[in-house]
Amino acid sequence: MIEPFLSAIPVLKRLEDAGFEAYFVGGSVRDYFLNKQISDVDIATSATPKEVKGIFSKTVDIGIEHGTVLVLFDHKSYEITTFRTEGDYQDYRRPKEVSFIRNLNEDLQRRDFTMNAMAMDRTGTLIDPFNGQLAISKEEIQTVGSANDRFQEDALRMMRAVRFVSQLSFSIEEETLQALTNLVPLLKNIAIERKRAEFEKILIGNNCNNAIKILLETNLFSYLPGLANQEKLIGKLLDFDCVGLNKNEMWALLLFCLNVKEESIEDFLRNWRLPVKEIKDIQHILFFVQKRFEQEWAVHDLYTAGSNLITSTEKLYNVIIGLKGTESLPNLLNLYQKLPIKQRSDLDVTGGDLMEWFNQKGGPWLKETIFKIEQAIVNEKVENDKQKIKEWLLTCSQK
Ligand code: ATP
Ligand code: MG
Repeated sequence: MIEPFLSAIPVLKRLEDAGFEAYFVGGSVRDYFLNKQISDVDIATSATPKEVKGIFSKTVDIGIEHGTVLVLFDHKSYEITTFRTEGDYQDYRRPKEVSFIRNLNEDLQRRDFTMNAMAMDRTGTLIDPFNGQLAISKEEIQTVGSANDRFQEDALRMMRAVRFVSQLSFSIEEETLQALTNLVPLLKNIAIERKRAEFEKILIGNNCNNAIKILLETNLFSYLPGLANQEKLIGKLLDFDCVGLNKNEMWALLLFCLNVKEESIEDFLRNWRLPVKEIKDIQHILFFVQKRFEQEWAVHDLYTAGSNLITSTEKLYNVIIGLKGTESLPNLLNLYQKLPIKQRSDLDVTGGDLMEWFNQKGGPWLKETIFKIEQAIVNEKVENDKQKIKEWLLTCSQK
């Protein structure tokens, strides 16, 4: 076995010593058999949340109604979830209430895909009642049991299937794909936040283009905010090699393909329930990409954008114009690094200084003057030195 499983073995051992069963489950076991980087291990146990909390001294209730307790052990944290079934599903969504059970197989049975329904004990023995390992070797995404039933229980699983296409470059097994094609309208019932989480993973996956093709072929895109009737424009995404773009850069590329006007970007992203900060970041990327189409970077734009936005803009611009790599970037970042100031607070003058020098109260003139000083400093017309700025301003006002 390898890390992070090795560090977690004592956690399983503790649960076993207390008389319970405990296994590694879910994505970490799948990724282990795929030789992929494993971010964190999920642990499933026959102990109830209350029993788990009795065994470990440091725990946090993070989703106790779903049976999940966060355990802090040896400076690391582990999500430990009690074996459960999901009882009756309502309105094609995940049930609110779950029942805890003592049996591993039943827990594995409620999981979405066979590759995600494997467990591994602390000695490395695999428990694989639904042939997940075979699915992995065939690179296939297949539901546990009837795809029709499983997608009707929780329609989000259809998006998860496409998300795994993007992340793992697997294909969707025939019956699973057939059920998906028939049942996509059920996605109407799914909370946008849950759809967004999967959609973002689709966007940043290595095999994004194949996943987008499936979204189009199955009509799934019609059940996503702002995408209905946009088949042609969504298809433009396929023209680009977007591997390596991050989440915000991908949102910006999508908006670019969809031709969303500047004033409608916020509404589009709000409909996806994106946080305000991310909406702003994406708007900024699109603003500078637009500008980049019109002209080379001006020094003042490098200053206003800052290194993260310069990077995102340049990456996306190069993808759009079909240039591989980002050769232009180091030079731009170097120019940025050499700027005499990086932000307004680096200025050697304050609004207070200006009001005193000109003996005037605050007002729009103050913002304009500060902007003028920033421009002059980044363009090396004046040094960032209080006295020199004062002299420069006086000569300007005499002109
Ligand atoms: P990732 O590596 O992206 O975290 P993951 O497979 O771990 O992928 P999670 O969303 O973290 O995905 O879910 C953990 C596990 O819980 C899955 O492997 C699967 O067994 C189960 N699971 C998650 N969502 C569902 C669902 N909607 N229906 C059934 N089982 C699910
Ligand atoms: Mg996971």
